[in-house]
Amino acid sequence: MRKLIAGNWKMNGLVSSLAEIEALKGLTGSAACDIVVCPPFTLIDRAVRQAVGSPLSVGAQDCHAQANGAFTGDVSAEMLADSGARYIILGHSERRVSHGEDDEIVLAKVRAAHRAGLTTIVCIGETRHERDEGRAIEVVNEQLAGSVPGETDSRNLVIAYEPVWAIGTGLVPTHEQIEEVHATIRKGLEQRFGHDGRAVRILYGGSVKGVNAAAIFGLRNVDGALVGGASLNASDFAEIVLAAT
Ligand code: PEP
Repeated sequence: MRKLIAGNWKMNGLVSSLAEIEALKGLTGSAACDIVVCPPFTLIDRAVRQAVGSPLSVGAQDCHAQANGAFTGDVSAEMLADSGARYIILGHSERRVSHGEDDEIVLAKVRAAHRAGLTTIVCIGETRHERDEGRAIEVVNEQLAGSVPGETDSRNLVIAYEPVWAIGTGLVPTHEQIEEVHATIRKGLEQRFGHDGRAVRILYGGSVKGVNAAAIFGLRNVDGALVGGASLNASDFAEIVLAAT
């Protein structure tokens, strides 16, 4: 399966940061994987213009579930698609924790994003406490069932397994732990979408760097990565992208 490497800039990036996209274009010209950069809302339009003619796509990091209306400060999936975004990260643990987004809210946003024609990168993953209690598989299954609409077109769907304790910490699960969770997600996708579930890409996210990327990409059912910190710097991100090709 063609791998997908997505960079989540989170709440980082000014106009001057677009130089990283320019540099990334130069560094990843030979890449044989899909590459997505998800800057903050304010840079999406500029990033899309900058990516024209390159293999880079642009994504967003969140949306409102409604198409429009009296929702001060929010941005809809339709607006993002209109700005040229093609992907969207939804259900990131930072939003689940600091914005109280539960599976029901994530599900509504995924439906909204699909309605607008965006490809969703739906994040799921257990906390340290849940893993220590032996509940990682249960939590991932619950989030997968609760956050992904059954009736959706699976071609617009990407899942990112992001153990919360591995995000931004430098900690990475063992290869066995990653393969176990990814196999569980694959099984869940096949139960949900039948044969089409085999084509849904499952990304690993959590402290992916140039030094560990190739080994992670060699694991079964790992179809790419969702990258936080290392996506802010073009050469760090390019190292990961090139490890996938
Ligand atoms: C993330 O925030 O989705 C993430 C994976 O971050 P990092 O790569 O910095 O761990």
